[in-house]
Amino acid sequence: MARLYAVEVVYRGIFQKTLAKNITRAIVLAAHREGKHGISFGRYGDSPERNGIPAKGFAIVADDELTLEEGMAKYEPKEVDVTICVDDTLCKGVESWAWYGLQPINRLLKPGGTLIVSSLETPERLIAMSHRKETPYRLAIVKGAASFSGLWVYKDDHTDARVLGAVARVLPELFSIGSLQETLRAENKKTGDLLAVSAQKSFDRTTTITVAPGQGNAEVPYSFEMPKWTEMREGIAIPAIAHGHQMTDETNGATGGFQPARNATFKKYLTRTMRPVVDFEKCIKCTLCWIACPDSVFDVTPDGLYDANMAACCGCGVCEAICPVEKCVTMVNETAFTDNASQWEAFRKDAPAYKSWLLTAIENRPERSHGFRYRGQYEEQIKQEVTNG
Ligand code: SF4
Ligand code: SF4
Repeated sequence: MARLYAVEVVYRGIFQKTLAKNITRAIVLAAHREGKHGISFGRYGDSPERNGIPAKGFAIVADDELTLEEGMAKYEPKEVDVTICVDDTLCKGVESWAWYGLQPINRLLKPGGTLIVSSLETPERLIAMSHRKETPYRLAIVKGAASFSGLWVYKDDHTDARVLGAVARVLPELFSIGSLQETLRAENKKTGDLLAVSAQKSFDRTTTITVAPGQGNAEVPYSFEMPKWTEMREGIAIPAIAHGHQMTDETNGATGGFQPARNATFKKYLTRTMRPVVDFEKCIKCTLCWIACPDSVFDVTPDGLYDANMAACCGCGVCEAICPVEKCVTMVNETAFTDNASQWEAFRKDAPAYKSWLLTAIENRPERSHGFRYRGQYEEQIKQEVTNG
């Protein structure tokens, strides 16, 4: 019987768009070399695609045209053989503009399917971040930092070739490493040979571990009920967000400051790769973060400090850039956090403990950049990643 294959690439919108497109396109072309038929396409939870907001690309391949047509009679696949996650912070879940809350990274995986993650984290850490699934699946890690290869800049660190080499290893029925290498050479006249070497290395190194049902993050993913069309109000009206209110300091009961009311449905817990952490002892209460934050994230606390509300933060980093005090606001990788609790409340309850947590979080933050933070950084990163890869 003819078989249908589905692969999804989960990526950060815009920042990793070209990377995702390269992967899905090469999957279809490599499978085509073995007589299969396929199509690759993008699918956004958001329209238009936005910086950093999770998005998906798909490659659908079949042994014959009829099976492909049947498989394409849906907007997007209900289940996939392989999920490729090119940014490990998305293991915490996928939450884009128009979706109904938080989607586990492994949600579409068939029983026994494979989650391939580009990451420097350990398997244990990635499993702990990913939501539990009722059926077993496999995890493969392609070693490397999240590659920001998007619309505006393309970082040619071979993440696409390395991920594709891993796909050839975990799903050899889809395409062989030989067909992949022929595709990479044919599609990349100048760099094809090097890409083929990276794909081979990844193919040789890729191993999988089985994640058992019940292993992983036990949290029930955030969701909300969408009204049926019969339940919707008449006319087109977008309700305004309600006024905010004064805050209460739980440690001493004082009220004051200001907490804006926020959108009840669009939470931004997983739309970011990094979040700001605030060293409240350094804060001079200048208000700049509060004014400049494009998402009105900061609550003014009763004691006049500024607390970033993690339900509203998209991780853009404007607050870190604008804060005039050195190391007062620092962007830290999302993988360092297991909850979205208020930093200010933690600080008010136990300032020394907060300070020591803060220093650890800042010290251990992994590099996340396009490679253009200083002159020469790109070359350094490419050399390191291609050598390690
Ligand atoms: S990173 Fe800072 S400026 Fe950007 S949304 Fe979050 S709190 Fe606001
Ligand atoms: S910009 Fe920095 S110093 Fe100014 S209020 Fe915000 S955290 Fe405090």
